[in-house]
Amino acid sequence: MINTRPIDQAADILSNAQTVVALTGAGISVESGIPPFRGKGGLWEKMDPMEVAHIDAFLENPERVWRLLIKDMKTVLDTARPNPGHTGLVDLEQMGRLQTIITQNVDGLHQAAGSSDVIEFHGNFAWQRCLDCDQTIRTDQVDLAKIPPQCGCGGILRPDCIFFGEMIPPEALVRSQQLAAACDVMLVIGTSAMVQPSASIPFIAKDNGADIIEVNPEPTPLSGRISNLQLMGRAANLVPQLAGGVRKRLNSH
Ligand code: NAD
Ligand code: ZN
Repeated sequence: MINTRPIDQAADILSNAQTVVALTGAGISVESGIPPFRGKGGLWEKMDPMEVAHIDAFLENPERVWRLLIKDMKTVLDTARPNPGHTGLVDLEQMGRLQTIITQNVDGLHQAAGSSDVIEFHGNFAWQRCLDCDQTIRTDQVDLAKIPPQCGCGGILRPDCIFFGEMIPPEALVRSQQLAAACDVMLVIGTSAMVQPSASIPFIAKDNGADIIEVNPEPTPLSGRISNLQLMGRAANLVPQLAGGVRKRLNSH
């Protein structure tokens, strides 16, 4: 029988793959109740990223950025839980069909779901760091009675993830580029692939001969250019289906 559905073709590719790496973005966490930046319902429909999420904007007026962006992020992320998109990737890892997740997300949900090798390309929101003394404090322990919140030393707290205009943690960048060059399949899930340098990661994989499989309800700049397969839909729906398809194939061997 010839498989024609993209999801079946994707399951075929994954079940035969040696080294699979996933690149995830805000879309995989949408069904955990975390709004993405771009796309439908995204935060950027309401505000300009350079106004609120740039390091210069934060340093110029931390109170404003805390009020417009960080406070709401904290409220949502303090209680967000993994969804079937995250747990589907854990299943793939347990079947030996996913080695590492490179995530642009700062929500910690891949680790909460149980994925064991997660590269946090943009850092993690679970911690806040003092601008003056560098001490860190868990975000869910931060009291919002005063905005911007302060460290015991009186310094202002900032999230331990990166703002626009800041450097990618060098070890995350180097390791992601190495994995991209070495994998034979890259799953690109829930990312608009418009933020550099993370958007270059699938191109490195493609240049080194990897198949690119996208999961996204909307086309991206990768679609029809470097993607071999586009699974159009929600990650929470498609990733578990994909994992189920791989399990069936591995069990029948
Ligand atoms: P993005 O906001 O630019 O794009 C989100 C993508 O997800 C879009 O292409 C959209 O079509 C797709 N999408 C929407 N719903 C989906 C679903 N249910 N399943 C699969 N895909 C879905 O996200 P980005 O490319 O990751 O880049 C934005 C930056 O903002 C990143 O650097 C990230 O660090 C940060 N961010 C993080 C979070 C988080 O940690 N959860 C949330 C918002 C933004
Ligand atoms: Zn301090």
